[in-house]
Amino acid sequence: MMHIAYLSLGTNLGDKEKNLLSAISEIERRIGPIRAQSAFLATEPWGFESENTFLNAAVCVETRLAPLDLLHVTQQIERDLGRTHKSVGGQYHDRIIDIDILLYDDLHLATQELTIPHPHMYERDFVLIPLQQILNEEKRQ
Ligand code: ADP
Ligand code: MG
Repeated sequence: MMHIAYLSLGTNLGDKEKNLLSAISEIERRIGPIRAQSAFLATEPWGFESENTFLNAAVCVETRLAPLDLLHVTQQIERDLGRTHKSVGGQYHDRIIDIDILLYDDLHLATQELTIPHPHMYERDFVLIPLQQILNEEKRQ
């Protein structure tokens, strides 16, 4: 069965535009067709101090993957693009790529490994602004 997921992407290391483009092309290859994609938004680090500003984006993707499989594939893409640190206990770090699952159909899920909708999405402009962009884009179609 086909599902619709909204993903948030962020990077603050290296060639950020290339990191986002690589992540998006891996999402298409391993997860499913991209239905909408936001512009890239430059933002300040949130929740930690760093000199490296972020580039953020959101995508809407069609997928046959179940929620946990989707998480595992996005985490594999993060590792393959070179992400080494994992955030633990609210400690954030510079990262080559972070891919978070914002929404998955109209699912509500709260497990230790995966919470959907993403628990912090409503507090973060760098998530909401790109998300709103693709939702508006869909409304116009
Ligand atoms: P953050 O995105 O908060 O900077 P990580 O990307 O390292 O941190 O993710 C930490 C953990 O958050 C992951 O190991 C994953 O199990 C968990 N997690 C819970 N809900 C979600 C979600 N909706 N999307 C992505 N990861 C999630
Ligand atoms: Mg993450």
